[in-house]
Amino acid sequence: MVSYVFPPPPVAALPIKGSDALFPVRRIFCVGRNYAEHAIEMGSDPTREPPFYFTKPADSVVINGADTPYPSVTKSLHHEMELVVAIGRGGRNISVADALSHVWGYCAGLDMTRRDIQNEAKKTGRPWDMGKGFDKSAPMGLLVPAAGVNPAKGKIELKVNGKVTQTSDLAKLIWSVPEVIANLSELVELAPGDLIMTGTPEGVAAVVRGDVLEGFVEGVGDIRTKII
Ligand code: MN
Repeated sequence: MVSYVFPPPPVAALPIKGSDALFPVRRIFCVGRNYAEHAIEMGSDPTREPPFYFTKPADSVVINGADTPYPSVTKSLHHEMELVVAIGRGGRNISVADALSHVWGYCAGLDMTRRDIQNEAKKTGRPWDMGKGFDKSAPMGLLVPAAGVNPAKGKIELKVNGKVTQTSDLAKLIWSVPEVIANLSELVELAPGDLIMTGTPEGVAAVVRGDVLEGFVEGVGDIRTKII
């Protein structure tokens, strides 16, 4: 029998709508610049880039409705509202045609970003980890099973203190959900429990303590968190 030198960490997990069971989170992959208007607002040309990825730790998830602490060492915490894909069946070199059969479900999520640290990393050619993968950087809504969800279209929106800051449609994803799954599965072997944050539309902006963030993805669900 295995013994550990200290108790292993708790399993990071997401609640599921209408169920007492939890979805155990293995890894969190995030797609960079996957809506043209957001790529342009970040100073990039959306027509020239293949998809690229960064990651967040599994335990960076914030459960829907819980508060999100303002992180250390930043003066520019940005919201990025995103559709999140939850993988239920793993694989490598998954085809685009087969990709959606690997999806367990979906939720609405926020890719919280220390924009000042990320911008400095871009300038100096350093990794994005501390701009993206910090503690509590991934608030997630309740998961819903994939059946009945069409990730090819549907409104995606975020309100901060009741005012719309981001609004777009999943139809504007540069790389569709099946294309992202297929491409990512060439780079790593996907496994059950992996989450994929699919990218944010335009309108990203800084938040401060006290702000209430309420997002939704049509046909998927809501995400709510308060910055404290
Ligand atoms: Mn993002």
